[in-house]
Amino acid sequence: MNLENTLKYHFAKSTMISDSPRTTASDALTGTDIMAAMGMTQERAAMGYSAFLGKMGISNNDRERAIELLAQYALTKCDRVAALRKLNAEIKPLVMHQLASFAFEDYSRSAASVKQCDCCSGQGFIEADVFTMKSHYTMKLPQCAKDLKQSPSDFEVKRQVKEVAKVLCSTCKGKKVVSCACKDCHGRGKAVNQDLTEKQGVPVIADCKRCGGRGYERIPSTEAYAAVCQITDAISLDTWKKSVKPFYDHLITKFDIEEAWADAQLKQITK
Ligand SMILES: [Zn+2]
Ligand SMILES: [Zn+2]
Repeated sequence: MNLENTLKYHFAKSTMISDSPRTTASDALTGTDIMAAMGMTQERAAMGYSAFLGKMGISNNDRERAIELLAQYALTKCDRVAALRKLNAEIKPLVMHQLASFAFEDYSRSAASVKQCDCCSGQGFIEADVFTMKSHYTMKLPQCAKDLKQSPSDFEVKRQVKEVAKVLCSTCKGKKVVSCACKDCHGRGKAVNQDLTEKQGVPVIADCKRCGGRGYERIPSTEAYAAVCQITDAISLDTWKKSVKPFYDHLITKFDIEEAWADAQLKQITK
């Protein structure tokens, strides 16, 4: 049994997990066995198990727990990076928590995720300059104008007036969020590879170049950097790129590693 298989038990009420005999081999485990196995996995692989449940949206608690565990892990490792080692003792845990939060968002993102629309900053509408034509008359229409049959428009002064109006954001169509799915492969992770297609003369489907086959866009690490800058100005963008970003990337992979570890534990327990 793997992590994915446990999901249905989280959605089901515990009373619905019965110990009735199962008909197929994969159902050989009783409800009690499964609950016990999940408990053991939680104990042996706390970070990976919580991360997985948090990612699948089982509970916010699991999400918080996974972030907290990663932040603690980060604290034990961050002194390897000079820029992080030098951080003030009160600031350091805050920075680690921020990095862990972003690492979780990145780890749990999928092609089905949505993100805030950048175009309208999540407002759903944007302010646009709208030009309208206004006019006024230079003077009261003189009697002579009437005699000469001049039209009032001869005395009209037209001008363009700029007004700011709220218009529906065209990027998110007012929904405030946009899909994280890759724009090239629409979340499939595969796309027609132009180079190979030209070489071979037949359409060749390969891993999408834009997203590397993932199917979705990752969170730009500059967003994590900007969030860190809210806490401290001790890390320059240069330092971030050179030494802190690799550490942050390591934190994201840590969730994948821990999830795989939790999966392996569960498989072993239920073998
Ligand atoms: Zn928008
Ligand atoms: Zn793609």
